[in-house]
Amino acid sequence: MNVPFLDLKAQYRSIKNEIDEAIADCVENTAFVQGKRVAAFEEGFAKYLGVGHCVGCANGTDAIYLALRALGVGPGDEVILPANTFIATSEAVSLTGAMPVMADVDPVTNNMGVAQAEACITPKTKALLPVHLYGMPADLEGLSRLAASKGLLLVADAAQAHGAKIGGKDIAKLAPVTCYSFFPGKNLGAFGDAGGVATDDAALAERIAMLRNHGRKDKYLHQFEGLNMRMDEIQGAVLRAKLPHLRNWTEGRRRVAAAYQQALAGLGDLVLPHVIPGREEVYHLFVVETAHRDALAAHLKTRGVATGVHYPVPLPLQPAYAHLGLDAGGIPVAVAKAGRILSLPMFPEMSSAQIEYVKDSILGFFEGEA
Ligand SMILES: *Cc1c(COP(=O)(O)O)cnc(C)c1O
Repeated sequence: MNVPFLDLKAQYRSIKNEIDEAIADCVENTAFVQGKRVAAFEEGFAKYLGVGHCVGCANGTDAIYLALRALGVGPGDEVILPANTFIATSEAVSLTGAMPVMADVDPVTNNMGVAQAEACITPKTKALLPVHLYGMPADLEGLSRLAASKGLLLVADAAQAHGAKIGGKDIAKLAPVTCYSFFPGKNLGAFGDAGGVATDDAALAERIAMLRNHGRKDKYLHQFEGLNMRMDEIQGAVLRAKLPHLRNWTEGRRRVAAAYQQALAGLGDLVLPHVIPGREEVYHLFVVETAHRDALAAHLKTRGVATGVHYPVPLPLQPAYAHLGLDAGGIPVAVAKAGRILSLPMFPEMSSAQIEYVKDSILGFFEGEA
């Protein structure tokens, strides 16, 4: 058997007619860039999250950049983000001219917690930028209190956490502004690049909407210099067609996660994702930890089971940041985790047979190890 890491074709096949019609509608009407299909998706996604506004844009990296820029983050500022995240989080900060400051992560949640963020605060700190990594909500209540007490902005990166909740409330309700990616492999994925920013702040939403579209509301009247960071109509149409299925897909991910949790509990030195009461994870990834990570990954590969590592090199140790002269000293937890984490296959359409096969393959590994 082969178990892929994710299976976008299975999802497409399950809603082929809706997707094909949505795309054909764009082509037949030659509707290509930021029109009524994008607007309909923006409205639908805002409603899904329970926030006042969603502004669509070209990708998740732009979403973070747009939010930071619209809030006035720029040269001379520092923005605190976790050391373990995709580089887009820090790239968006650098693009504003501000300095990304990479905090260590919490050993249990893998997210930047209050203690880790607070340790990085300096007089130049302008914003906190937590990431809801793997679909696990970061401690927004604690981080909001920290931001308020220090007079900092709070922008959340929810590129992996569409629909995650804390205490029954969507994470987008619990931060002033939350950024999404709709990259094809994300929990809600377009058929190309796309992103969005969610906020209850109408004035902020308007600034972001103008910034992504050449600083304008009217066709040839530009209030300021913006950029071209718009969403394509085909992406808007695909996302609008997919949105009604997102709740089911999230349930599917939770079903897979529950099966893994049950099957893999107490196996060797394997550490499973810690479920914190009240935090509703959306399991973009199911990440386990073991000292035998590379051997386990190799074993699974020979059995036809695909895995990934998210992420193998913490940001401060990336060649891209060599000029900052950082070392592993400031981020001991992130560094230790980077050598231990392994992402198992995770997608809503995973069959019981596939889950069973992954489970048996992991069992076989640990029985061999013992
Ligand atoms: C995917 C991702 C992004 C960037 O999104 P793109 O749409 O690929 O630009 C940002 N942050 C995190 C945590 C991501 O996983």
